[in-house]
Amino acid sequence: MKKQPMNKKTTTALWSRRKTREVMVGGVGIGGRNAIRVQTMTNTDTKDIPATVEQIVKCARAGAELIRLTTQTPEHARALKKIKEILRQKYNLEIPLIADIHFTLTPAYEAMKWADKLRINPGLFGHKFAGKKSFTSKEYQEALSAIEETLKPFIEKLKEKNIPVRIGTNHGSLSPRILEKYGNTPLGLVESVMEYLRIFKKYDYNNLVVAIKSSDPLVMIEANRLLAKTMDENGMDYPIHLGVTEAGLAEDGRAKSTIGIGVLLLEGLGDTIRVSLTEAPEKEIPVCYSILQATQRRITKTEFISCPSCGRTLFDIEKVTKKIKEKLGNLKGLKIAVMGCIVNGPGEMAGADYGYVGGAPGKITLYRKGEVVEKNIDESKALERLIELIKENGDWNP
Ligand code: SF4
Repeated sequence: MKKQPMNKKTTTALWSRRKTREVMVGGVGIGGRNAIRVQTMTNTDTKDIPATVEQIVKCARAGAELIRLTTQTPEHARALKKIKEILRQKYNLEIPLIADIHFTLTPAYEAMKWADKLRINPGLFGHKFAGKKSFTSKEYQEALSAIEETLKPFIEKLKEKNIPVRIGTNHGSLSPRILEKYGNTPLGLVESVMEYLRIFKKYDYNNLVVAIKSSDPLVMIEANRLLAKTMDENGMDYPIHLGVTEAGLAEDGRAKSTIGIGVLLLEGLGDTIRVSLTEAPEKEIPVCYSILQATQRRITKTEFISCPSCGRTLFDIEKVTKKIKEKLGNLKGLKIAVMGCIVNGPGEMAGADYGYVGGAPGKITLYRKGEVVEKNIDESKALERLIELIKENGDWNP
């Protein structure tokens, strides 16, 4: 039987990641040569310190590397200090906290004392002419100058702390000024970010991350492509945070996120990701890691290939695959195939390192690198034998 090529290497070689600067958020690097980071956001009232701490701990245990918290007021910002202390003292947990700021910079000044990063939404603050829907070109320029005046002292403070900022625009909250000029379009989204980036750059502050989110994955994809291109043309190498906002519940939210984030990752864009689900934030984390694994951008667990089963299946493949995943799910970089039968030959295992294949009713055949290693193993003993085989070959590296 002809061996399949190991496709790990060939696909990795095709990936060219957009070059970005490294931005340090607490002890976690985003961009540069760092792994693509996984983040989420709490949905508690940040002032409810015990509930917020509990949720952060759950998210961290699930694998979150950065946590964003809503920070509406200086009081919310001060809660970050206490949250950090409890995480450190009670849980020995040093996870970077990001203060999410909208409407006014007042809480941002307080938050920068305690947070590891700030997120500001250009669409939702710094407006002169608040409530106005139509702008003459003179008023447009005046509004931009007003934003610059607001940001100037803020940037000076940021320089003292050297705290990173994410300029994060949402499709649903573009300013009326941008909406009038560009419409609710990818170009409008990009311009909303670029206005701020130009000001930050002018005042020589480059400790920045950028994001454009939309609940429509196609808009989000197009806008991020345009953002990367525009930044490249302007000599900006800021890391990009990817996410489909308000993706929703269950499989719909997961599908939208996978499309939006996955397509861009495959194109080499994205340095950190968040999957936004209408579920507990810790549920977002496994989806992030699955997207990174499936796009081969960050391998953190065993890769499983399992057949869909059919009338030829020789064992309860769903049950057995779950059991195998439970026991062998954390062998980073290993590819394991679980196949109901061998009708299409070992080639169907698509370059798996190990194969668990139905040989006859109740009997399993084990493969290694496409070659049969052992036949006719009783199904009740096959999983243990597979584990032994992996250990014997030095591949047991949890
Ligand atoms: S591997 Fe065998 S059992 Fe699985 S789908 Fe293909 S033919 Fe059916």
